Amino acid sequence: MSTAEKTVAANFIRHIVAADLEQHKNDNKVATRFPPEPNGYLHIGHAKSICLNFTIASENNGTCNLRFDDTNPEKESIEYMEAIERDVQWLGFQWAAKFHASDYFEQLYQYAVQLIQSGHAYVDDLSPEQIREYRGTLTEPGKESPNRNRPVAENLDLFQRMREGEFADGELVLRAKIDMASSNINLRDPTIYRIRRVHHQRTGDDWCIYPMYDYTHCISDAIENITHSLCTLEFEDHRPLYDWVLETLQTPSHPQQIEFARLQLEYAVMSKRKLNQLVTEGHVNGWDDPRMPTIAGMRRAGYTPEAIRDFCERIGITKKDAWIEMGVLENCIREDLNEHAPRRMAVLNPLRVVIENYPENEEEHYAIANHPQQPEMGTRPVPFSQVIYIEQNDFAEIPPKKFKRLVEGGEVRLRGSYVIKCEHMIKDDTGNITELRCTYDPDTLGKNPEGRKVKGVIHWVSAKHSLPAEIRLYDRLFKVANPDAESHFLDALNPDSLDILENCRVEASLQQAESGSRFQFERTGYFCVDSKDSSADKLVFNRTVTLRDTWAS
Ligand code: ATP
Ligand code: MG
Repeated sequence: MSTAEKTVAANFIRHIVAADLEQHKNDNKVATRFPPEPNGYLHIGHAKSICLNFTIASENNGTCNLRFDDTNPEKESIEYMEAIERDVQWLGFQWAAKFHASDYFEQLYQYAVQLIQSGHAYVDDLSPEQIREYRGTLTEPGKESPNRNRPVAENLDLFQRMREGEFADGELVLRAKIDMASSNINLRDPTIYRIRRVHHQRTGDDWCIYPMYDYTHCISDAIENITHSLCTLEFEDHRPLYDWVLETLQTPSHPQQIEFARLQLEYAVMSKRKLNQLVTEGHVNGWDDPRMPTIAGMRRAGYTPEAIRDFCERIGITKKDAWIEMGVLENCIREDLNEHAPRRMAVLNPLRVVIENYPENEEEHYAIANHPQQPEMGTRPVPFSQVIYIEQNDFAEIPPKKFKRLVEGGEVRLRGSYVIKCEHMIKDDTGNITELRCTYDPDTLGKNPEGRKVKGVIHWVSAKHSLPAEIRLYDRLFKVANPDAESHFLDALNPDSLDILENCRVEASLQQAESGSRFQFERTGYFCVDSKDSSADKLVFNRTVTLRDTWAS
């Protein structure tokens, strides 16, 4: 790789980290973390955060942890944790260590006791509605709870009894005692513990009180000696709380929270709640449906980790929210596959062609290059025989202007093979064209016919050698750029996002294609072998992306 290729785009986070290292902050260490909540599969927005955290660490000889933010047991599961680990590794990253916020439940509890002891937290029995009411608004200060000045000893006693299960769910909460008049609502005595009798996937029934996200996150970062805690912009207003907790507790380490703009991708939704709804209501076939913006879905569609990493690098890291066109993502995979995917021939909508002057029992095998620009990718044998299939739309009974493919009485070149001429077509009772009768010119193999110009080249497969296949043509899941702006995002679903073609024919060499392997089907698009449904008896391919951007106007 040349140095030019290795250069990465500067961004403000890279600048901050470089400046910190220059000043020998944090003992010259860089430690980041990726902190997903295991309440769904990872999506392309998470990929942005993963790439950022892992590359900031690796570029600076630092470490990046995977930390599950598992403080909300109702919505979380082991299945999600496993999927997250699989996806991070598939993207090409390896965490230095794996933790769970739940690993710190005891420490978090002890820190809460410390807050109470130093007069910085109190147990409140206001109802959730009252707490909301007392909190005030952006324009009005909040009102102090009557429990705000409860004596330390009483708070300690109540908090311990909360832990021991003496109170009903929601009856009491522990709140940080900060400032009910703060202009930042997050500082108006936020709740830091609540009572919830839910089974936790890791700690079982050990706890009936669970710490809140804001309180948990900063302490988890500090325990792990994270140096740069990178998160999305919506946490900017939470940073004063992040800092307040760590300063008040005098934790040995105080990570720096830095916010960046989240990825907003057109024609997709990214909220896990909405993705979950798409799955549970059956609008898609699971979290790994190739139309989903999830890592698992994109993997199944045929995306490569390289393309996703390239995308994340190209969109950059900024402080300003911006929409990214779906075309940007699609171009990344298109460029990658254009360079790396071997070529194959597949006929999606077959039309039978009989070459009348070709001997019935003869066949020939061409060695066709797997990649036009990459001779090192070798060749494969492609059989030819009397009966072949071509694409229905490569023949026109009434050709539009400039139609270069096959017409009655016209000629076309079969890719890598002969020039054929259509003598006549055969129709069934309903008028559908069922077969073309053609002749071939034996002098045209690998060379142009003398004195005639044949402009069109079409793909084809030999009927008796080719394999039946199901090909799934995926398109964008939503028909509008911003489905979240619709009154209901489901109204924006694209009814034509999946077209299943069951009677396709693909060239014989695809019999050996491995699960998940990717190809360019010539003139048709990029496809991969479906990792779930494809078998030797029934090949199934997913379209990853079209050859060109068909949505560009
Ligand atoms: P969702 O709204 O989908 O539930 P989340 O932010 O709650 O998203 P988490 O599992 O908490 O999901 O996210 C883990 C990390 O990924 C966080 O640091 C979060 O900021 C980051 N992240 C989530 N969505 C995006 C996005 N669209 N772009 C960039 N980073 C994101
Ligand atoms: Mg979250």
